[in-house]
Amino acid sequence: MIDIPAPLRLRLDGDALVRNWQTLDRMSGRAACGAAVKANGYGLGAVEVARRLAGAGCRDFFVSNWREAVELAPLGLAVSVLHGVRDEDMAAARAGIARPVLNTPAQVARWKAGGGGACDVMVDTGMNRLGVSAQDIADGLLDGLTIETLMSHLACADEDAAMNAVQRDRFAALQGMTGARRMSLANSAGIALGHDYAFDLTRPGLAVYGGVPRGELGDAVVPVVTMEAQVLQRRLVRAGESVGYNATWTAKADTEIAIVNLGYADGYFRGFSDHGIASSNALSLPVIGRVSMDLVAVALPEGTTLPEADWLSFDTDLRGAAARSGMSQYELLTSLGTRFSRCWT
Ligand SMILES: *Cc1c(COP(=O)(O)O)cnc(C)c1O
Repeated sequence: MIDIPAPLRLRLDGDALVRNWQTLDRMSGRAACGAAVKANGYGLGAVEVARRLAGAGCRDFFVSNWREAVELAPLGLAVSVLHGVRDEDMAAARAGIARPVLNTPAQVARWKAGGGGACDVMVDTGMNRLGVSAQDIADGLLDGLTIETLMSHLACADEDAAMNAVQRDRFAALQGMTGARRMSLANSAGIALGHDYAFDLTRPGLAVYGGVPRGELGDAVVPVVTMEAQVLQRRLVRAGESVGYNATWTAKADTEIAIVNLGYADGYFRGFSDHGIASSNALSLPVIGRVSMDLVAVALPEGTTLPEADWLSFDTDLRGAAARSGMSQYELLTSLGTRFSRCWT
């Protein structure tokens, strides 16, 4: 196939990725620090992310399903599959490419019937999403399993909610009850709640990729992803003329604009319409009008030299981008599209 350079790219800072993980590892205290690499490594590329983090010393990786585990299998890492195991997954699971995180009594039964082997178990401590109950455990559901990690998940770690301590204490009460070798509770935000949330293993995702789920992480976490796209056309919009679908932006004075190779099909959502910020060197340039599927318009100060084929970067500060677009930092990362070339530096 002919290899044509893409008109839009993600600059991915491998050093920043590793530094964020090392920061979270340090903040995890005596607990080991793993990494969630589900959803294609939060949009960055799961294989590239896992390879770099493994090189930095990360030993525990988390994906959602077995197709994601299969993609990572050539790396030979310890991977846990958060959604557990279906009948359709049993062949891959028995082949040992990853461990299932068993969530339901039916999954536990399936794993035992298939011969067992090392597994992880999720217990629900109040989120009411995934996991067996503390009562299931007291009733002996897990007897006979070889459990590597018992885990639970915090519902409100990104807030100062009373529920955090409730979940921590319910989880701590299960210590020594299952034969699990390790206990794991905290995601990125949970790490910032303190060492009493870290147990034996933490599971950060968002903050590894430069997201900031709690203020305490604001100074510690550095950006990893920069979205860049090429100018496709320059034009002068005369005062009173409008730009883009539904003509939502009208020029108050004659305005130089650039039309750029980036749109909502790439994960640059319509919420950035009239709210996004592009930059070129030190210049900050407002996105104007509706974001289209494949294109976005940017207003330029008079006299800006930004010819066709020049590159602009967009909304690098994830927290600010989330606030401006009305999307979460998670959605912005995991929606990064397939048309970007992903360039690691
Ligand atoms: C996604 C996920 C994580 C990582 O959460 P972040 O908020 O991205 O740090 C950890 N644990 C479980 C069970 C998850 O589903």
